[in-house]
Amino acid sequence: MDSCVFCKIARGEIPCYKVYEDDIALAFLDINPANKGHTLVLPKEHFRDMTTCPKDILSHLFSVAQLIAQAQISQLGATGINVITNVGASSGQSVMHFHIHVIPRYDNDGLELSLPPQKIGEHDLLLLADSIRKGI
Ligand code: 5GP
Ligand code: ZN
Repeated sequence: MDSCVFCKIARGEIPCYKVYEDDIALAFLDINPANKGHTLVLPKEHFRDMTTCPKDILSHLFSVAQLIAQAQISQLGATGINVITNVGASSGQSVMHFHIHVIPRYDNDGLELSLPPQKIGEHDLLLLADSIRKGI
């Protein structure tokens, strides 16, 4: 993926503030952080998003995300963490190279990452659970 910004970072063609690296994974600070220490964890190989990333790589990346989260707690004094991965433009994904946001949270940090609750009936819940189950 010649034009992909995260591939360019993985190849060392664009600089980054690196936090972690191994043969498969890379983690660096988000250039426009939502909070102090906001880190992105991604595969060096290009996959579009979580749904197309091979399972073994996916599980490795989440292990790395766990290490980052632990370090944000022990080193930055984070009191909470949001782990987010966007899939597709409708979810807000802007860089189409799979990445996991590991966002440290601090008491009263004022960051709003809310999921506004909606009312839903039992019938719809049953149908939705059934539909998703059929796809697994
Ligand atoms: P998305 O919206 O795709 O889930 O998240 C993409 C993230 O990548 C954004 O938070 C954005 O700030 C970050 N980002 C985009 N371009 C660069 C870059 O060149 N370097 C770094 N470090 N982060 C970037
Ligand atoms: Zn890429």
